[in-house]
Amino acid sequence: MIPFNKPYMTGKELSYIAEAHAKGHLAGDGEFTKKCHAWFEQRLGTKKALLTHSCTASLEIAALLCGLEAGDEVIMPSYTFVSTANAFVLRGAVPVFVDIRQDTLNIDENLIEAAITERTRAIVAVHYAGIACEMDRIMEIAQRHDLIVIEDAAQALLSTYKGRYLGTIGHIGCLSFHETKNIISGEGGALLVNDGRFAERAEIIREKGTNRSQFFRGQVDKYTWVDVGSSYLPSELIGAFLYAQLEHGEEIIERRRAIFSRYAELLSPLADKGFCRLPGREEPGIRGNGHMFYLILENLDARSRLIRHLKEAGILAVFHYVPLHSAPAGIKYARVNGTMAVTEDLSERLVRLPLYHDLEDADILKISAAVKAFFGAGD
Ligand SMILES: *Cc1c(COP(=O)(O)O)cnc(C)c1O
Repeated sequence: MIPFNKPYMTGKELSYIAEAHAKGHLAGDGEFTKKCHAWFEQRLGTKKALLTHSCTASLEIAALLCGLEAGDEVIMPSYTFVSTANAFVLRGAVPVFVDIRQDTLNIDENLIEAAITERTRAIVAVHYAGIACEMDRIMEIAQRHDLIVIEDAAQALLSTYKGRYLGTIGHIGCLSFHETKNIISGEGGALLVNDGRFAERAEIIREKGTNRSQFFRGQVDKYTWVDVGSSYLPSELIGAFLYAQLEHGEEIIERRRAIFSRYAELLSPLADKGFCRLPGREEPGIRGNGHMFYLILENLDARSRLIRHLKEAGILAVFHYVPLHSAPAGIKYARVNGTMAVTEDLSERLVRLPLYHDLEDADILKISAAVKAFFGAGD
């Protein structure tokens, strides 16, 4: 069976964990965690990076940093993972969903402005499949309406938009190192604070609402409870694991991009004949990270049949997401602005093919052949 995903290990993870163990510092913010912070700050170019225990945690910190009041609104796509919305619902805010673009399945930047009300406080840009949202336009709208932009860059580490890394363009960026992402630590995430005015408070919220980080730096002589917060920092063992991955970050992304290109090369004849649609090509200024390769089929029935056909051929393909506006909690806690026609249509037709570091060329050939056979379009 070809699995859908297989976590990749670079080889150094266990020795770095052993090193952290030997040093006897197991709680958060030890040497490896600091090395990870420095990597994000220097490599990506963000004011302050903080490891968290998940992208979900990072989004929750971001929501706290927005200083939301009950009934405040946050604009986002419905075609995303639940945490994008949940983080704001936890603060009593209302997610306002707008439709997505046909080509990237990212939020349609041209629909954002119509969804803005006097209660709107923030926009969440989710970079689906590691391909950038139209950030220039989104930042321009946010600036004009005095809104905070949060990038949900869970899938987008090391992708770029006009030469800038995703997660570093909005006021705040959120990353995930869940084992289904490109660079992993099992569970894990990071908060990228790009706007300096949020830096001090982010650190405090992450440390249970205390100024312990300032205490460790010798900036205050005792630490105390100064704000709301929670425990959002991961153990040093997670930092050790993650650092081993970050050292090979570029190489991991290159490998995934190569697999993506191979799929595109093998399957583009199908798209040319109109059997299905492939992810759009990279536009000038947009560089992906090979996070995902998907097909968009004719309808829901064709998708179900393709998934079954691949399973019978020993290949696990999956789909996601159930649009949040149609989910029970989405109906209860959120609202839509305008039609969700593109979201509803594409979410029923998308299927993801296996894509992981150790996927061999023979596997890619086998998967592509099985997809072609499904359409009766063998070589
Ligand atoms: C994976 C993912 C998340 C959640 O990440 P965790 O680290 O598992 O909390 C959030 N948003 C998007 C778009 C994701 O793909």
